[in-house]
Amino acid sequence: MYGYYYDWTYILVLIGALISIIASANVNATFKKYSRQMSARRLTGAEVAQAILERNGIYDIQVCHVPGNLTDHFDPRTGIVNLSDSVYSSTSVAALGVAAHECGHVLQHKTEYLPLKIRSSLVPVANFGSRFGIWVVVAGLAFAMEPITTVGIWLFSAAVAFQIVTLPVELDASRRALAMLEDYGLMGSDETRASRKVLGAAALTYVAAAAASVLQLARLLILRNRRRD
Ligand SMILES: [Zn+2]
Repeated sequence: MYGYYYDWTYILVLIGALISIIASANVNATFKKYSRQMSARRLTGAEVAQAILERNGIYDIQVCHVPGNLTDHFDPRTGIVNLSDSVYSSTSVAALGVAAHECGHVLQHKTEYLPLKIRSSLVPVANFGSRFGIWVVVAGLAFAMEPITTVGIWLFSAAVAFQIVTLPVELDASRRALAMLEDYGLMGSDETRASRKVLGAAALTYVAAAAASVLQLARLLILRNRRRD
């Protein structure tokens, strides 16, 4: 049991945590920087989201305001695009990029974008696996019961698969967002370039999260194989 905690493989978890912290600091700094650059057309995040939805003939989705910073998300269950304090009524190129990104998720939902469907189907088992998978592995190792360890590893693998399939979903939402901002004349191409940087930094946080969970999975496999020898 102690070997699990005081073990060099813990380095893999620390590396994962470190890249996540760096990616998160980077998105905060990038968002802050481009929050100071106001779009020439003076449209707010909420207005841009509304315009994108209308251009796509979508009238059953509401645009609402949620408290917090970078708490923006689209909730398909309620049909609400939630935009945060620094996006909803801001005219910055950072805010417009995020608002358009959330509309990108709406379009994925409406067009039944395949990676989104796969991601949604993984939610229940991935939630369970990310919460309890590691503890099932720990129990399996502690009691030297390999079948239990293996079940734990499969559970955690579902959480890893979820993080990985999140990547195409997020990248596609940003790709759609930037194309629509420019095609619909909501932004100039120099402004879209700034929004691209913000959305790129946001995408890196998902890459970091996926990398961290892959490192954690590698660590669990190393611990199981060591127990076998
Ligand atoms: Zn997203």
